[in-house]
Amino acid sequence: MNIERRDFLSTLTLAGAATLFSGNSLLASTGPKKEKLGIALVGLGYYSTDLLAPALQLTEKCYLAGIVTGTPAKAESWKTKYNIPDKNIYNYQNFDQIANNPDIDVVYVVLPPSMHREFVVRAAKAGKHVFCEKPMAPSVADCEAMIQACKSNKVKLAIGYRCQHDPNIQAIIRLAKDPKFGKVKMITSAAGYFDARTNHWKQNKALGGGAMGDMGVYALQGARLATGEEPVSVFAQASTTRPEIYKEVEETMMFMLDFPGGARASCQTSFGINMNYLQVNYEKGWAKLEPQSGYSGNKGSMSDGTIINFPIKNQQARQLDDDCTALMANTDLIAPGEEGLKDIRVVEAIYKSVATGKVIKI
Ligand code: NAD
Repeated sequence: MNIERRDFLSTLTLAGAATLFSGNSLLASTGPKKEKLGIALVGLGYYSTDLLAPALQLTEKCYLAGIVTGTPAKAESWKTKYNIPDKNIYNYQNFDQIANNPDIDVVYVVLPPSMHREFVVRAAKAGKHVFCEKPMAPSVADCEAMIQACKSNKVKLAIGYRCQHDPNIQAIIRLAKDPKFGKVKMITSAAGYFDARTNHWKQNKALGGGAMGDMGVYALQGARLATGEEPVSVFAQASTTRPEIYKEVEETMMFMLDFPGGARASCQTSFGINMNYLQVNYEKGWAKLEPQSGYSGNKGSMSDGTIINFPIKNQQARQLDDDCTALMANTDLIAPGEEGLKDIRVVEAIYKSVATGKVIKI
């Protein structure tokens, strides 16, 4: 969302915006109009604990209203730390009762990827809008079921693609439509980190692990967003330097994408290497970001001397506020479920290429 649109939306009164809102819990509510939407985090692991809950202390359009956890000790400590009332605390078994809780407008699913489908569908059936972490789900079929469940229950689905809310990445996205440098010719895109853990769901296939879904979606998005196109074919190879840890999923994935406008991308992701950059070569120039998908500090430059270094207070807070502003005004989400599905369609083709050793048409 550009600055002008944010400013415009922030001048709308929320009461006015809510009247535009159709087919969801806010409109159904006959109570006083809300100034902030209530978010319930599902899964209180690293990302919820270290990033999302702190961001929810900075947001203007939403707040941490509830939690869903399978660990009673976490429920106790979060309740005290964030002043969460007992009536807004759920476990995985009684979660569906959230349907009757007017404090909760949005359920944010922050679980291992194999659990995303179940909890997105249950949240949608409870009549709540849903935010879902990346990767959206292990398969295209899962993503389609999640989108359908949200449509049938007249709620919205956003994917937690925080980078698409970052003005530094938005500068690259804008170049896809800007004639300044001409068409994209070649892209190099990398996103990975060294993961020292030896027994985590990221190494477990059944739970949706693997570098491709985790960091690979950032490398893939670098190419998709820079071209503004969807790839038409892919060739991929997987490898590992730590076979004793990466028994079921890839530690490293390298993949080449062809785009309909003629651009080619060379992308890589890994749980064994720290790397994070995007270089886009156009007909008449280049643009780069390094890092391209950090929580903060994404920055870069262009061949005409333009510096990309927009300040951003808190990326997750910006994502949450952008998405809640869109929910309240009933406008388009920056990264709806369909955007998550586009990535998983390519990820499926990448795994097919690894399995067959062939170029796969998408
Ligand atoms: P984590 O392992 O730290 O936390 C996972 C949570 O799920 C824990 O609270 C755990 O108790 C719970 N859980 C329930 N059932 C489980 C099971 N069978 N196995 C393992 N955990 C189970 O993971 P995380 O790093 O917080 O990742 C959660 C989600 O957030 C993933 O989809 C991940 O890709 C995403 N994530 C996104 C970003 C981002 O920048 N957008 C960053 C980190 C993680």
